[in-house]
Formats: sequence, structure tokens, C-alpha cells
Amino acid sequence: MMRARLNPAPTLEIAANSVTGVLLPLPLPGALDYKLPSGCELSRGALVCAPLGTREVLGVVWGQADGSVGDNRLKIAQPLEGAPALPPNLCDFIDWVADYTLNPPGAILAMALRSRGALEPEAQRIAYVKSQVTPTRLSAGRARALEVAGDGLARSIAGLAEDANVSPAVVRGLIQSGALVATQLPEFEPFRHPDPGFALPQLNLDQARAAESLREAVAAKRFSVHLLDGVTGSGKTEVYFEAMAEALALGSQVLILLPEIALTVQFLDRFAARFGTRPAEWHSDLSQKERRRTYRAVMKGEAKVVVGARSALFLPFRHLGLIVVDEEHEQAFKQQDGAIYHARDMAVVRARIEACPVVLSSATPSLESFINATAGRYGHLKLLSRHGAAQLPQVKLVDLRQERDLPDAQQRAQWLSPPLRAALVKVLEAGEQAMLFLNRRGYAPLTLCEACGHKFTCPHCSAWLVEHKYKKRLACHQCGYELPMPSGCPQCGEIGTLIACGPGVERVAEEFAQFFPQARFSIASSDTMHGPAETQAAIRAMARQDIDVLIGTQIVAKGHHFPQLTLVGVVDADLGGSDGDLRARERTFQLLHQVSGRAGRAQKPGLVLLQTRNPEDAVMQALAKGDRDGFYQQERQFREATQSPPFGRLAALVISGYDGEAVRDIARQLGKTAPLARDVKVWGPAPAFYALLRGQTRERLLVQTARGIDMQAYLKSWLAIVKVPASVRVAVDVDPVSFF
Ligand SMILES: [Zn+2]
Ligand SMILES: [Zn+2]
Repeated sequence: MMRARLNPAPTLEIAANSVTGVLLPLPLPGALDYKLPSGCELSRGALVCAPLGTREVLGVVWGQADGSVGDNRLKIAQPLEGAPALPPNLCDFIDWVADYTLNPPGAILAMALRSRGALEPEAQRIAYVKSQVTPTRLSAGRARALEVAGDGLARSIAGLAEDANVSPAVVRGLIQSGALVATQLPEFEPFRHPDPGFALPQLNLDQARAAESLREAVAAKRFSVHLLDGVTGSGKTEVYFEAMAEALALGSQVLILLPEIALTVQFLDRFAARFGTRPAEWHSDLSQKERRRTYRAVMKGEAKVVVGARSALFLPFRHLGLIVVDEEHEQAFKQQDGAIYHARDMAVVRARIEACPVVLSSATPSLESFINATAGRYGHLKLLSRHGAAQLPQVKLVDLRQERDLPDAQQRAQWLSPPLRAALVKVLEAGEQAMLFLNRRGYAPLTLCEACGHKFTCPHCSAWLVEHKYKKRLACHQCGYELPMPSGCPQCGEIGTLIACGPGVERVAEEFAQFFPQARFSIASSDTMHGPAETQAAIRAMARQDIDVLIGTQIVAKGHHFPQLTLVGVVDADLGGSDGDLRARERTFQLLHQVSGRAGRAQKPGLVLLQTRNPEDAVMQALAKGDRDGFYQQERQFREATQSPPFGRLAALVISGYDGEAVRDIARQLGKTAPLARDVKVWGPAPAFYALLRGQTRERLLVQTARGIDMQAYLKSWLAIVKVPASVRVAVDVDPVSFF
């Protein structure tokens, strides 16, 4: 759980030739003192060029100097001419995140400055407009170009040539004759403003009520948190679009966080259908130039709506009026590399600092958000019915202990049980579509030698190598290590003794093809083997009904709308449910619920078959009965009894490095020096789930405290005791969501 610990914004009254603290985007413990040129006054957020050693670094005026370095030894930081300052709210946010996640503030600042050249003076583009001069020679092409230019818009040579359907030479001729004159334009086309009144939606009663309450929250211009809790297909997006429309009408900016870039394209189209233009984007697939364009436009307040991945949280918004976190339960919002933070939680913090509402949207909220909403700390907006005529699908369990093919059956299946095959036959005969889901990439998760028992493992990770039949390779899903599929066993030398154990999606597809040779199908897998383009193609083929069956991993679980999809078969519902992770059950429920939600989204009713060996398990029962809240209550009781989040607090220390002995030594030292404190328990050290990852040895310690304990203060005092060599990294994960 988070508590607000906002640092009051320092007020700066800087005298001539004054000394100030400057934060550099580097992992230093804090701001450094610099002198400013005589007579120069800068406030918090102002950009400066600061000498550091032999180089010059971009820095940000942060606050009062700490006075640790004598005035006569200070270097002078020069203000950056013509550059805008970072908004003070962003500076406060950076301080808050650094403090909460125990990262150096400079490391967080680096995330906020992650757009090369965005803060440098803008380049100008040369463009041409029509002058008063009429050229002496007027060919048909020239006349056409002048007619197009007659609208008064400035265009580049290529742009005018394209619009008038003439060659660039024709345009150049007009420039030479003086009929077109040069003018300067900003480097980038401005973003078009989304129109809140472009296409008003038809909302049902639930939606209208929720939309109204969000509009009021936006208009109030105060901090508030709202859980938009609606069954899959209930039209949550339409509802928060109305909140966005209100923010736009008030002239505010809006940030929408999505868990996966793969979902962005569909989202952009929906947005454009509602608001008449696409929003600005922010994610790792953008080019440097596109990033520069978005960053600048956000900073100037010109980009009204930004849709992005978690890093969009650190953009320099001028006047943020609303934040939406879509699929708020998704683990993808947790950044695990570098500075570890949870974008959903930090979105709530940013909204608090910006004094605006934040909407958390999900059909299967995280338990934390659900508890906050049911306790009244968050607004709770429920959408109980599917949009239009669609009904929620029927969910049935297939008990794999009973439903096996008879030993003498002609064709025996390993992964597709008789009831699932029967349902597939029905759907295919009716000309409808089906989806088979297995959250496991590749062909088989383990390859084993029948003769000697040798298992293929990754040399760099404690992980099995996964067979990818399609590419004829064995691959490590942790580090990407690959080798060609061997024909013999490297240990005993026998040929033809290697056997594939367990199914991946490719293997399920192989079996499906044996039973249904006529059916058209594709595999969609978030996989380096298949690649995002192939996955997108499979999803498009499904949407266009070019295929009958989509066989996929969790990439197919979310966001897609296939009107003809009436059957979802979950090949192994037990997968991932029992790895001892605090959130494993919650995640299994969320994922299976999400997958189930793909079925029956239009007129035709949907059926979901969950193949399981544990039909009595609470997760399976809750799914079969459609009793989400009952399941949440059970989980809630479990968390309360064990003082787990949100009833207690957790933090993990992950110690890693290439020198295994040094890693284990530091882990042991940390284990021994953990300060004794009331209501604080420390477990470990123990080898992490991946005790070896990309060649690095990993050890873990887990800290659990009561809710009221200042976890950060505890961790700081502890980490100050142990001297860690440069070869070992100690990463702090406050509120860990997984235990890998
Ligand atoms: Zn062998
Ligand atoms: Zn590996």
C-alpha cells in the first residue's frame, strides 16, 4: 500500500551568483551543488548544462544546495538557452518515485528525459506558399500545383508534388519563377486536437451512469481514484472515453496507459472513431524522431491525449486532467529492469500530485484495487452486463482424470479431450470460430533423452530449453540462447532417443491438425520464433474469418473482439497455478477469465471448456460458477490471515552478479545484518526461482512488515550496513508482484 509522502515543492529565491542543487540524470545519491552565472535566476525544473569531470551533462535545477562543497570549488552550470523547464509537478513526481522505490532520483530523472534531442532548440522546416507572382509559362502541371497551393497551406516540395500529383521538378520550377515562396515551419506537424463531440456513443444505463460519475470527477479537478469494474465486453472503453471527452472540453491533457504495445493499434482506431483523430503515442517502438515529436508536444501542452506504455508516466505534461490505466491488473505494468516500479501504483501518485482523477479499468481487477474499491477508498463503478445483445459465455470444466480416450480408440489424443473435440466439431460445422488457448510457447517445454535421462537446460539460466519444431531449434525463453535441434543425445551419444515432454502451442496445433485436417487455423504466440508481424497477421486473419481456429498463448487473451468466436478451449487450465507465488492463483484466475471473455461477444452465445486435473480447485470453481467476487473474498481472507498485501507490506531484495560466490556472500551478509524490528520479518537468503539467469547467479531475501511500518526507512537503514562490491547488484523491489 502506498502512502502519500509528498515533498513540499522547494521555493527558490536565488540571489545573483547563487549556488543551487542540480540533479543530473545519473545514478548518483542526490543533486549536486553548482553555481549559476552571476545575475541568473532559475527555478526548480529549469534545464542547465553542467560540467561533470571532463564532460558537460544536461541537468535540472532541483532545489536548495546542500553546501557540502566549498563555494570556491563549485563549477558553474549554464542555463540552456531557449529550452523549456520541466513542470514542477514532474519534479515532485520524480522525487516521490525515487523515495518510494529506493532508486537514486537521477535514475528516475533519466527516465523522464528519455527522448534524445527533445529539449534542444527545435529545427525548422522549409515549406512553400503561393505568392502574388503568376509565372509566364503555365503548363497543366504548374496550374494544378498552383491551384492546390491556393488553399494557403505551407507544404514541402515533396508534399505539394504529391498533393497536386506532379513531379517535384514542376514545384521547383514554380519556386524558381517566384510563384511559390519559402517560409519556415516548426520541425514537426502539430498533433490534431481530438474532438470531444466527434461521434457521441450510445451508452446503456450502466455505462451512462458510470460515465456521468467520471465526468463529474474530471470536472471537479481534484484527485480521486475510480475502479471501472466491468465484465469483458461491457464497454469500459466507451465509458472512460466520456471522461476523456470532459477533460478535453476543459482543455486538459489526458494520459492512457496500456499494458502492451500489441494492443495499441486497435485502440488507436477506436479512439479515432470516437474523437476524429489519433492520439499521440509513447512506447519503445517509436523512432527517435517520433519520440521527440510527442515529447515536445506534451511539454508544450499541444498533445492533448497520449496513449502509451508505462514509461509515458514520466512525460512532462503541462496540465494533466485525467489518467486512465486500462487492464490495470496486468503484470506488464510492473517494470522489472533498472528502476523497479509499478506503473499503476505510480499513476495513482502522479494523479495525486497533478490533482486529477485516475481511472483503473479491468474486468478482473487486482485484488488490491478490488479491496480498495469495496472498502470505499476508491470509487467503484460496475458494469454488470455485456454491451448489446451479447451474453456472458457458459463455462464448463472438463475433468481430465475422467475424460480420456479409451485405450483401444482408433485415434488417441494427448491434449484435446473428447468433449473439447466434440465441441470443436459442432462449431466448425456451424461455420463459427474457436480459440484454443495454452499459455506455453513452442512445441514442448522439455526435451529428454529416453536412454540416459539427460534434460536439455540452458547453460546461462536455470531453465529448460523449449523445443520449437517450426524453427527446428531448442531455445531458452529467459535469455534467448538457442541451438539447432540435435539428432542425438549429447550425453550418451544415442541417436533417436530424444523425446518431447508436455505440450506447447505448436504441439497442440499439430494434434488439432490431425483431428481436423480440413480446418483452417493459425498459431499466435508472443514469440521471437513467430514474431509480432506473424502474430498480428494471425489475429487479423481471425477477425476477417480467413481462419476457423486460432491457437495461441496469452497474446490472444486480451482485447480482441471476434464476433464469430463461440468456443474457447483452455488446453491446460492448471498451468501456472501452483508455483507458490502469492499472486499465482489471482493471476491464473485473471488470465483464464480474460480468455473466456473472448467467447460469445456478439449475438451467438459462447462456450468455454477448461481442461483441468483439479476441478475442485477454488479458481476452477469460481470460473465455472462465474463467481468472481466469491473468489476475491476467499483470496482476501487468505491475504488478511497471512498479513500479505494489502494487509501487510512486502519488499524483495534480489542480489545478482556473475561471480556466484560474491553474490552468495553478500546475500548471507544481508541475511545476518537485517535489523531486528517489531512487525518486520525477513526471509532468506535463498536461491531465486531462476537461480541462474543470463549467466548471473541470483539470491533473494523477502521482507514482510505490518501495514503501518515505514518499509523504505527500514530498507535504507539495512542497506547502509553492508558494503556491496561493484561486481554485485542489490536490486530493491518494493511491492513485488512476482517472485522469479
Ligand atoms: Zn542420453
Ligand atoms: Zn537462458
